[in-house]
Amino acid sequence: EKRARQAMQEAHQLVSKLYHYVLTETPYGVEAMKYLTKRGMSQQTLTEYQIGFAPDSWDFVTQFLKKRNFSQDLMVEAGLLAKSDAGKVFDRFRGRVMFPIHDSQGNVIGFGGRLLDNTKPKSQPKYLNSPESLLFNKSATLFNLHRARPHIRKRKQVLLFEGYVDVVSAWQAGFMQGVATLGTALTEQQARILRRNVDSVVLCYDGDAAGQEATSKAIHVLQQAGLVVRVAPLPQGTDPDDYIRQHGAEAFSQQVLLQAMPVTAFRLKHLRSQYVINDETDKTRLIAKAVEIINELDSPVERDLYQRQLAEEYSLTLGDLKWESKRAYKQQ
Ligand code: ATP
Ligand code: MN
Ligand code: MN
Ligand code: MN
Repeated sequence: EKRARQAMQEAHQLVSKLYHYVLTETPYGVEAMKYLTKRGMSQQTLTEYQIGFAPDSWDFVTQFLKKRNFSQDLMVEAGLLAKSDAGKVFDRFRGRVMFPIHDSQGNVIGFGGRLLDNTKPKSQPKYLNSPESLLFNKSATLFNLHRARPHIRKRKQVLLFEGYVDVVSAWQAGFMQGVATLGTALTEQQARILRRNVDSVVLCYDGDAAGQEATSKAIHVLQQAGLVVRVAPLPQGTDPDDYIRQHGAEAFSQQVLLQAMPVTAFRLKHLRSQYVINDETDKTRLIAKAVEIINELDSPVERDLYQRQLAEEYSLTLGDLKWESKRAYKQQ
């Protein structure tokens, strides 16, 4: 098993160099290079992240690994190659921009691949990651952790993104304390890894329905791990990468990161966005839910602050609201 891991590791290292070379030095990479340039990625970023391109070929990597005597079955297991039902081995990643994924020591253990935008029939998923393997445990890996760790510790803060493109974009704009999950929900294990490095997390998920749902779930997991969580507000329909490209680093810092909300504020905002209020019954129900959220706070001072805000928002007297709040509390 140790030898298998070593071979997988070595193959990943070589293939990540190969993909990077294809992107930056060969005609096969020209189109991908145009795409990345259009997305605003600098030469320096491409080098730092060893971003590459997997040519649109069935056997480019297959031949490359064969020449170097790697076992085909092992390479299929490692997820660099794939095998058809008929037993034919072929390249797993074809016609994709490749982002190497590292472990916390900086070894390449997998890849994320993104299709170019003009790829003909959209029968393939936009993003494709390496499968789980001896090397690659998705639920215990955070993209960019090995680069971000010193920045996370220095700034006493980590930025958690949904996508690796968001991490790369933030890094290029000077926000180097960013990491991302790998196309799956945040796991307890990932939260514990963060907790070992930092007390405080700023969630920077996409400003769409999926991002909001993922935020609610991540909050829970992060708090369970003992982390203080704030939520950065992304405008509806944009993600951090979009935002940085449209508005720049300064705006991202001032309008997004510095505006990060405490969890209770986020949950109240999320609650409001979910409810359509037609009449007094709806309004009462919404207020009851809001009271529940506020009651979860341990600090009486914080509870009081949110109660005052809520009372003002719905033109209630603070006395009535506190009464409602006590009643809800007793019912628990
Ligand atoms: P882009 O900006 O490149 O067009 P996006 O921002 O639209 O991508 P989302 O749909 O918001 O991408 O997904 C966010 C992130 O989730 C992606 O960056 C990727 O890391 C991950 N992801 C999305 N779909 C998949 C998938 N099918 N498999 C693995 N990871 C995925
Ligand atoms: Mn999204
Ligand atoms: Mn996105
Ligand atoms: Mn995006």
